[in-house]
Amino acid sequence: MNQNHLLEATLAELHLTTAREQYSRLAHNAKEPIQYLHDVMSAELHARNESGTKARLHAARFPVMKTFDTFDFRLLPEVPKMKVLELTEKKFIDEGRNVVFYGPPGTGKTHCLIAVGVAACINGYRSYFTTAAGLLNMLLTAKRQGTIDRRLKSLSRYDLLLIDELGYIPFEREATDLLFQVISQRYESKSVALTTNLAFEHWTQVFPDAMAATAVIDRIVHHGSVFEFAGESHRLRSRGGKTGRPPKG
Ligand code: ADP
Ligand code: MG
Repeated sequence: MNQNHLLEATLAELHLTTAREQYSRLAHNAKEPIQYLHDVMSAELHARNESGTKARLHAARFPVMKTFDTFDFRLLPEVPKMKVLELTEKKFIDEGRNVVFYGPPGTGKTHCLIAVGVAACINGYRSYFTTAAGLLNMLLTAKRQGTIDRRLKSLSRYDLLLIDELGYIPFEREATDLLFQVISQRYESKSVALTTNLAFEHWTQVFPDAMAATAVIDRIVHHGSVFEFAGESHRLRSRGGKTGRPPKG
């Protein structure tokens, strides 16, 4: 076996796929050994980070991909752009902070929610996107099947839980208790980001009682920020006017 074959066999055994693919090409402009080793290892690290991000984006189950690059903050002059962009920093997740995007349909809440989640995935954190209805269905099913403990545990492993559309469907008592468990499990340690069309004073419309609503709101808002989105629906605007079918949140 010549040296190349020996090296390739070693890199394969170490599962250094990219290093194996690139070492020969990188050798052409190698200056000195340490620099060369660094170039090869950097290529491996870069490829791993990329594939890690891809896997995390896939696992997060975003309905579509959105980032802040395509978000036009000029349409929401009352929303502090810099404060919103801070949600894409590692600090947001590291400090277990929360965020609520609140406003009427079509104002970009889900877009921002996904953008926060995508940034977390790129930063190396595990995220999970779900609607409030989807989350509660999942929890109620798990409870019925006797797998609720396992389900709660798997949800608690996500660094960031993204809950879209809280407020569209009223919850049963049993569902609220489960949602409360999810939120309190994450309290002061893991981040929650959610969107809602309801002002906090109206959360009692979806929760069976004011106490349940307050308990959830308190835990989310204690280490969190609330951004209020106002204005015309972007869906209507992009259709060229206020006519047409009523938008769905
Ligand atoms: P909401 O969740 O508030 O109902 P969405 O985030 O679903 O609204 O926005 C509806 C559509 O309009 C999406 O395709 C979204 O990407 C787009 N959109 C909304 N606001 C903006 C904005 N300020 N800049 C760019 N696209 C926007
Ligand atoms: Mg939405």
